Amino acid sequence: MYRTHTCGELRIEDSNKEVTLSGWVQRVRDLGAMTFIDLRDRYGITQLVIDENTPEGLSSKIEEMGREFVIQAKGIVRERSSKNKNIPTGEIEITLSGLVVLGPAITPPFTIQDDTDGGDELRMKYRYLDLRRQEVQQNMVLRAKMAHATRSYLNSLDFIETETPVLIKSTPEGARDFIVPSRMNPREFYALPQSPQVFKQLLMVAGFDKYYQIVKCFRDEDLRADRQPEFTQIDCEMSFVEQKDVLETFEGLTKHLFREIKNIEVEDFPWMPYSEAIEKYGSDKPDTRFEMLIHDLTDVLKGNNFVVFDSAEYIGGLCAIGCGSYSRKQLDGLTNWVKRPQIGAKGLVYVKCNEDGTFKSSVDKFYSQDDLKKWANVFNAQPGDLILVLSGDKPAMQSALGELRLEMGNQLGLLDKNTFKPLWVVDFPLLEWDEEGQRFHAMHHPFTAPKPEDISLLDTDPGKARANAYDLVINGVEIGGGSVRIFDSGLQLKMFDLLGFTPEQADAQFGFLMNAFKYGAPPHAGIAFGFDRLVSLFAGLDSIRDVIAFPKNNSGRDVMIDSPSEVAKEQLDELALQLKK
Ligand code: ASP
Repeated sequence: MYRTHTCGELRIEDSNKEVTLSGWVQRVRDLGAMTFIDLRDRYGITQLVIDENTPEGLSSKIEEMGREFVIQAKGIVRERSSKNKNIPTGEIEITLSGLVVLGPAITPPFTIQDDTDGGDELRMKYRYLDLRRQEVQQNMVLRAKMAHATRSYLNSLDFIETETPVLIKSTPEGARDFIVPSRMNPREFYALPQSPQVFKQLLMVAGFDKYYQIVKCFRDEDLRADRQPEFTQIDCEMSFVEQKDVLETFEGLTKHLFREIKNIEVEDFPWMPYSEAIEKYGSDKPDTRFEMLIHDLTDVLKGNNFVVFDSAEYIGGLCAIGCGSYSRKQLDGLTNWVKRPQIGAKGLVYVKCNEDGTFKSSVDKFYSQDDLKKWANVFNAQPGDLILVLSGDKPAMQSALGELRLEMGNQLGLLDKNTFKPLWVVDFPLLEWDEEGQRFHAMHHPFTAPKPEDISLLDTDPGKARANAYDLVINGVEIGGGSVRIFDSGLQLKMFDLLGFTPEQADAQFGFLMNAFKYGAPPHAGIAFGFDRLVSLFAGLDSIRDVIAFPKNNSGRDVMIDSPSEVAKEQLDELALQLKK
């Protein structure tokens, strides 16, 4: 038997028991007369002690031992003389009577503790050591608990967990596919699923009624903190439902997770139309933890001979409460910040609302105190506040203001990680115009149904049609999205037509789906949550990498197993693939 207890288990009540523990040596402290060893496993740390009563021979073994050795320790539980209140096992220690080295260890490349000295790349290269650190392990435990709670909630509602294939055919969902060559079908390729979208819809045609899967999805996109080439979704589909049924069910799941995992009761989620999110928050994923709403100032500010404003399609602004005392340097800093290419504004106009009721602006030449008072009224700005204004192309400036709003929220400490503000963003546009390609793209995906009242727009002004599509947003993070689906092969064909598919192309790509709809398709709708994002939100982390056991780096590499990598020429030959000379 390797152990009678774990390293997190023993308490003062266990005094005088003879126990056996196994684990990793966290550290050895040799104090001369006594030596202490902290023994660690997943459950905690227990102190082992070697003193003058320890049997001969043990001490020399201990001298050979270093950090991260895996050992088995036998001994008696004793009350400690100096207790450690910070750990649950801190009242006891084990006086050693036997010790076996199970697995010796060479010196690890970084220390296995919360404040490790290992840099990012090093920790990724030795991820199995990084995963020994309690902090990282806790994230993985959280993830497992959340997966478990998700399953129990959905199972309790009679969802059927169904696996869908990983080797499929490319589905157009906005991103590039990873492709896999087929040996048995030379020069033909599978694609890894960007999502199980078409399969889950076919499961509805098959009468499964409610499906879910916690599933890996693959998208060959440029990577960011919240993106990995492979990621996990809680993927769901339901039959005989309308939008509100799906939202209710998955609001229920979200609340269940908050309750079970974080012991938090969250309020009912508001619904916000996409157009309102863009107008007021400059984003389709509004962070509603704080107000600071964006206001359209186009009508108020034009006509004062300030050419920058007069020539702008849109003028918008926001009011940062209490920032009226920002210094020249701070304002210059903000101006430079909005001019960065990622934000894309040409400049920043400000109005300081002075404590004495007067105003000081960067455009005093063009606007009188009375004019500036009008600006302030739009925001109900008070003395001490700061109004920030951007102008230019409408969508670009709305999004720049959205970014500026977040930056100010951050500067003002309004992005509290322990406050959770979920909401549903609804009524997304069905289509998105692509200037470059001069064609429409599906905003969500091609299987999304238009709002019934907007179907006639498909013939007259398709760009205006709204979709029965929805996103769950929490604290400015898009946690998930879904839609009511088209379940009529005629409407589906029309949708493909709008997206620029000829009937032949549509048939070649999606004939199987449109055909399936001809055999009796139920009305259906679904949603998918980004599981990694949800876990990292619950963990209070900014990157999804920290909640993935073996993540890839920003170049899509697994630096531990060194992948992607070249393959042998024979393998390529077998696949009928040739490398470029
Ligand atoms: N397949 C969609 C996605 O991955 C989600 C859905 O519509 O259910 O975003």
